[in-house]
Amino acid sequence: DTVFYGISDKPRDKYLGGLLAGGFDEDTCQSRYQSTMYRKPSTYKPSPYLVQRLRKYEELHKRCAPFTAGYNKTLPFLDDRPAPEKETECKYILWTPWSGLGNRILSLTSSFLYALLTDRVVLIDRGKDMTSLFCEPFPDTTWLLPPDFPITNYDVYNANHPLSYGNLLRKKNISTDGSGSSGTPPSFVYLNLPHDYNTEDMHFFCEPDQAVLKKVPWLFARTNNYIVPGFFLNREFEPELSRLFPQKEMVFHHLGRYLFHPTNEVWGMVTRYYKSYMAMARERLGIQIRIFNSKDAPFEVVSEQVINCTLQEGLLPKVDANSSAGDTTADQPAKTKSVLLTSLYSGYFDKIKDMYWEHPAVGGVVLSVHQPTHEEWQQTDKESHDLKAWAEMILLSLADVLVTSAQSTFGYTGQGLGGITPWILLKPEGGKMPQPACVRETSIDPCFHSPPWYVCREKRNGDNGKVVPFVTQCTDVHGGIKLV
Ligand code: GDP
Repeated sequence: DTVFYGISDKPRDKYLGGLLAGGFDEDTCQSRYQSTMYRKPSTYKPSPYLVQRLRKYEELHKRCAPFTAGYNKTLPFLDDRPAPEKETECKYILWTPWSGLGNRILSLTSSFLYALLTDRVVLIDRGKDMTSLFCEPFPDTTWLLPPDFPITNYDVYNANHPLSYGNLLRKKNISTDGSGSSGTPPSFVYLNLPHDYNTEDMHFFCEPDQAVLKKVPWLFARTNNYIVPGFFLNREFEPELSRLFPQKEMVFHHLGRYLFHPTNEVWGMVTRYYKSYMAMARERLGIQIRIFNSKDAPFEVVSEQVINCTLQEGLLPKVDANSSAGDTTADQPAKTKSVLLTSLYSGYFDKIKDMYWEHPAVGGVVLSVHQPTHEEWQQTDKESHDLKAWAEMILLSLADVLVTSAQSTFGYTGQGLGGITPWILLKPEGGKMPQPACVRETSIDPCFHSPPWYVCREKRNGDNGKVVPFVTQCTDVHGGIKLV
């Protein structure tokens, strides 16, 4: 049984166990210190070492942020000249918005962790609406690239770009075997890491390649994946990562809470919705329904799947289908349950709501079902749409119990921020009902959907889910790997 947490009038864990620095202005970003008025305190504490490294990172970021002396000195290296023999004082990893919002949150988390591991500073292209969605995460500085930054078009970077890492390797413009001076990389390298990357690009994860990239002042990485599990496969990174995250599956839980604070506009939407529809219930269940392909996952199948899953796992009460009678337990205090449903479509909501309207729930549970939006299709980069999508991810994270859809980074974000191990609705294939309808996830960290097939330590292709015990195959995505 879940413990009940009402809204508190002051934060229960203002600095998130030391993750957050003090001294931010509280009005310009209310969510930063208010989140634990709504969310129960995490049972997972960040390690003192992570806290210490974050403070050190914040110092570095301040020293190297746009228009600092360090930044101005490094800016001229933003081209293909050879990387300087002596490393520049400031080194960067650039990020640009790409793919859906959940994917963006996970890829940015990956870039930040890479920055932490390699003493770089992460700077982001604000795209259409990054500043409407997220507060600045680092004190007294900015992570936004200035509008006059020389790179304005990130779309020119793809697998064929002459400065893509895979291309540099293929054309032998750099070598990782230490054979002579051709080992010097250019000052700007593009890391091509989308889901359809090639074997050479995958060498990015390997130890000798990281040794080469160390010298490069400017890196730009593009991925729509949560590549963090790949860092744990690297033997140079792994000891540091294990120190930072003694509980390995907590990487996104901690870094996500550290980095992503909704702006006042989003936070207003979250708190108003929460107070209106979720706060008063004894228990809150979040259900996230994501359809990737309606042929594989038709409405009738998925709605039945959701009902089967929630009834079988005891997450929703059974209904007395033979009865439409009124409640005979009106004199007893009711057990209340608020169900938050998120989906692009409205049909699932009607189905569940009607089920509990037309028939009494066994056990006298009073159930209410709520769905903030049904946007019908993905409208990434439209501000009003993205604000709502972000608010809904946060609302999911404020639930006590979660049911999420396989393979969805939208769901991963909710579960990770909430620190909630969800039940996963397995992916229907060919319109057939998955058996079982859902399974309990084993670890809360997101799945890396398209891991490299190149196994660094074996120097050949293989299964990266079988290399170390703490990186295993995902439950929800075939071929994916995740931290446990
Ligand atoms: P993924 O595709 O499920 O991995 O998640 P993403 O967040 O990367 O991309 C899906 C996008 O579709 C979201 O960012 C939203 O723009 C939209 N979307 C999908 N499901 C929902 C939902 O339940 N609510 C809202 N508001 N938007 C959704």
